Amino acid sequence: MTEAPSAATPATLFIDGAWVPASDGGTRTISCPADGSFVAEVSEGTREDTARAIAAARRAFDGGAWASVPAPQRGDFLLEVAAELRARKDEFARAETLDTGKRLVESEVDMDDIADCFAYFGKLAGQDAGRIVDAGNNSVVSRIVYEPIGVCGLISPWNYPLLQAAWKIAPALGAGCSIVLKPSELTPSTAILMMDVLDTLGLPKGVANLVLGPGAVVGAPLSESPDVDMVSFTGGLETGRTIAAAAAGTVKKVALELGGKNPNIVFADADFDAALDNALNAAFVHSGQVCSAGARLLVEEPIAERFVDEFVRRARQIRLGGPFDEAAETGPLISAAHRDKVTAYVEKGVAEGARLRCGGTWGEGDLVSGFYYTPTVLDQVTRGSSVLVEEAFGPVVTVETFNGEDEAVELGNDTHYGLAGAVWSQDAGRGQRVAARLRHGTIWINDFHPYLPQAEWGGFKHSGTGRELGPTGFAEYQEAKHIYHNI
Ligand code: NAD
Repeated sequence: MTEAPSAATPATLFIDGAWVPASDGGTRTISCPADGSFVAEVSEGTREDTARAIAAARRAFDGGAWASVPAPQRGDFLLEVAAELRARKDEFARAETLDTGKRLVESEVDMDDIADCFAYFGKLAGQDAGRIVDAGNNSVVSRIVYEPIGVCGLISPWNYPLLQAAWKIAPALGAGCSIVLKPSELTPSTAILMMDVLDTLGLPKGVANLVLGPGAVVGAPLSESPDVDMVSFTGGLETGRTIAAAAAGTVKKVALELGGKNPNIVFADADFDAALDNALNAAFVHSGQVCSAGARLLVEEPIAERFVDEFVRRARQIRLGGPFDEAAETGPLISAAHRDKVTAYVEKGVAEGARLRCGGTWGEGDLVSGFYYTPTVLDQVTRGSSVLVEEAFGPVVTVETFNGEDEAVELGNDTHYGLAGAVWSQDAGRGQRVAARLRHGTIWINDFHPYLPQAEWGGFKHSGTGRELGPTGFAEYQEAKHIYHNI
């Protein structure tokens, strides 16, 4: 149960190089979703705090203390951050796990990925030399230089709190921007640790700022402020729409990484066991709270009955448990409110005609004090049913069947989202053909979930605008300037 926090007012906002409490003294208690135990008490920032952070970032950017540092030195700084993150991995992984309730082993993997992300952008920033273009005239030198876009508001979600933030912080700092980070109010701990790393390693004051608090109070001013040049957001579709609308008046750049309703397409000629193992992991890792979760399982008719029966049998056996339970295979949902939302999706799907093959219940016994939801499989789902169309963002899989490539592609694209999808087939040509026709930002063939820091990540359609990771994910934080010199 949640214990009373200490009397001292926490100073966990990082503004203009200093740790400060919220201007109105407001705080929030963070509890572990696995059992409700007390994790931390943090400052809950205000609009005024956000305005101060934006002003600090603006001053730092305009003063050039970071933006004018040569790109290779900025790259070296990111490499130092990567090394420090590796050295403090255990501390970070534990903090992430307590905030999210996710298994410690998963947080440890996330921390490795975060260090890799900083290392990748460190190397990329170091090579950022611009480009010479041929003006077709020997008395002209024409070159393109890439300059930092300016002050960036970085707004991140709770499911991969530091990973999603790192995909923004690393390229933004590598490009020479100043940042105001607003993590999810539910999972602030690793953002606080991250600021400590940046500060300890000597980032000039005001370049990186952290304001904790709810979206409407801290996130909204980042979208609305004329002093913010770009907002990079990862989160839900509706929030993305709100941010884009709020940002429109100031004509700032908006990058949106939104949800997904990702098809996992299993052809009859797939490696059955590999497809099955991966389909289970794709759907239920981190209790399905993954933007790229394999929430729509599409199986070709000849193997559908056997595949789905086995999938359901294995889903029933998945062991739920707390973050430090080494036998646990997946953990809790983030909050009671989120569990209610997942419950409602499943109940509505069943009311609309779907058959509940397994799951659909809350954790029992030792798990009642956490927000657990059992792995759930629905088949015979009515076309257009909200559980088939919208992102439940929980351990909920819908099953559909198909025959042949055309129908697989049609069903795979039958979503307003376009984040990710997978194709399982031992026919390499089929894998490539289907991948080429799917309108999603990432397609895995005979795998699910791996991503690379050097490969772009992002969504088609309602899954967002812009890209993270890879050279494009770096370029998002730059302005290209053409300098035409008539010698
Ligand atoms: P959310 O949209 O509720 O919140 C995300 C962030 O936005 C939080 O920090 C929140 O405080 C802030 N926010 C809320 N209202 C705001 C407003 N009006 N203005 C500015 N900021 C505001 O999302 P969530 O529940 O934290 O995260 C889950 C969602 O994130 C899912 O839809 C998931 O698919 C998506 N996601 C996408 C990716 C991706 O790479 N595409 C990765 C992870 C998560």
